[in-house]
Amino acid sequence: MSRLNASWDAIVVGGGPAGAVAARRLAQGPAQKRTDRCRVLILEQATEAAPRIGESLPPACRPLLRDLGLLDRMDGHRPYLGNRTLWGGTVATHDFLRDPHGAGWHLDRTGFDTMLQAAAIHAGATIHRGVTVRTLTPRSGCWGMVTSLGHRLRTRLLIDATGRAAAVARRLGARRQVLDRLTGVYVVLRGETGEPSDSFSRIEAEADGWWYTAPLPDGTRVAAFHSDSDQPVLRELSSPAGFLARLRRTRMIAAEVPVDATTIVTGPVTVPAHSAATDPPAGAGWLAVGDAALALDPLSSQGLMNALFTGMTGGDAAVAMLDGIGSAGRGYTSLLSEVRQAYGANLAYFYGAEAGRRSGDFWVRRAPDPIRAAIGG
Ligand SMILES: Cc1cc2nc3c(=O)[nH]c(=O)nc-3n(C[C@H](O)[C@H](O)[C@H](O)COP(=O)(O)OP(=O)(O)OC[C@H]3O[C@@H](n4cnc5c(N)ncnc54)[C@H](O)[C@@H]3O)c2cc1C
Repeated sequence: MSRLNASWDAIVVGGGPAGAVAARRLAQGPAQKRTDRCRVLILEQATEAAPRIGESLPPACRPLLRDLGLLDRMDGHRPYLGNRTLWGGTVATHDFLRDPHGAGWHLDRTGFDTMLQAAAIHAGATIHRGVTVRTLTPRSGCWGMVTSLGHRLRTRLLIDATGRAAAVARRLGARRQVLDRLTGVYVVLRGETGEPSDSFSRIEAEADGWWYTAPLPDGTRVAAFHSDSDQPVLRELSSPAGFLARLRRTRMIAAEVPVDATTIVTGPVTVPAHSAATDPPAGAGWLAVGDAALALDPLSSQGLMNALFTGMTGGDAAVAMLDGIGSAGRGYTSLLSEVRQAYGANLAYFYGAEAGRRSGDFWVRRAPDPIRAAIGG
């Protein structure tokens, strides 16, 4: 077992984007107290980055990355130049040339996570990989922890950044609300995957759900279908032949991307993609960030923005909690409630544009009223 200091100001469980940003904020401390940095440990269960669906960061992330001082470290990704959608019965183009923020990024997700972790380490955080929490016990104003590798640790504050698992918050008694049954099935394609200059994402609605496809930085392409876990279509898509056959029957995507000439190099992989919220997202001596606090539908394309934003604001709230500001956790909880309301309203608006023309279960569940009833907004 490798050695670790026993005593920490904050332990962040999960070293994804939300955890890395929160740990960095904590390690940096408040601007006026740069000399009084806090001791922060990230515990990450994976020894190396797990494969992820190819994600995109929309242009609206630029101001956030600038505020975090990370905008000039966005290397190795592919420019994300806009969206083509077949939604609400019409084909539309949103070209980011006309977006005031400029282009987004089709991410090299491993590179992105590595950059964020390196920034946290540079600020003074320590990361320990291949380890998770075995036991957690409240102990007179702090937490006692035994890790899966047998380390006995003590911390004043805990941050749950375990993604959709919300493993720490659940262990502390918070309720995980699963707000729908959305599931994604994705493949990575190689071959004639599109013009090298085509850096648009495409989204296409169909009877049982919706498609997403985008080019990835390494020249491959991700294609994904999203439906509810109880829909028979997901079984059809779980075989490579079934997936390709259905992809090749799409109207807009098959006409614009040469999916006929591609082969599957990864997948089909089935992943949970539902909206979910942790209630409450903060309590005495702990808070949750990123998907562990609020997991968003991929249609919003804002999961990573939410991870960066809650990593930043959750990290700042954690600094204030360590400084004894009792209202910091409540302030963070009410901020998350506002984010959830805005997210619910936007999701109801976007799904509503398609749901009105469809009669299948998937779309009936995505009419504005059921979405607002489940999420808010
Ligand atoms: C199908 C699909 C498509 C998506 N597309 C996009 C997109 O295009 N754009 C976008 O912005 N977002 C997208 N997202 C959302 C995005 O992937 C997430 O919102 C984002 O990864 C959340 O970051 P996070 O740091 O909160 O969690 P994660 O990235 O999940 O990181 C959690 C970390 O915690 C670790 N961990 C978990 N449990 C433990 C434990 N018990 N102990 C220690 N470590 C633990 C994990 O190994 C992982 O490293 C998509 C999601 C899905 C499902």
